[in-house]
Amino acid sequence: MPDQNSSSHSCQAVVLHCIDFRFNTTLNSYFDKCFPQGYDLISIAGSCKGLLGDEEHRKFLLEQFEISHKLHHPQFIALVQHEDCGAYGGSKNFSAGVIEEQFQQEELTKAKELLSREFPESKIERYFIKLSKEIVTI
Ligand SMILES: [Zn+2]
Repeated sequence: MPDQNSSSHSCQAVVLHCIDFRFNTTLNSYFDKCFPQGYDLISIAGSCKGLLGDEEHRKFLLEQFEISHKLHHPQFIALVQHEDCGAYGGSKNFSAGVIEEQFQQEELTKAKELLSREFPESKIERYFIKLSKEIVTI
């Protein structure tokens, strides 16, 4: 029987990000550098919106984080929100770029608080990626 808890089968982080293809290449190379020992990726439209919205989505996402923790023991949780997210109605739903960024920072903070209750051992990092591909660490 293989050892299910083998540390050779561990990764460094679990990343939550939106499905939006425009950011994949940038985020992949960014997180490859941040977490060279690898990371699990949870991808869902709206990213943190799923954690903060209805009970069904929250339950689904928490299950994904639990599976990652159980199987791969990541130390870090990386939460990513992005500019012009369709799940929030896009940038046109905000009166200005700074307002949108501020709103997404608040989403990240709320999601961090929620996850820190469920995974108190994890270090939770927050990122906001712009259409320019600039990544802001919060
Ligand atoms: Zn999105």
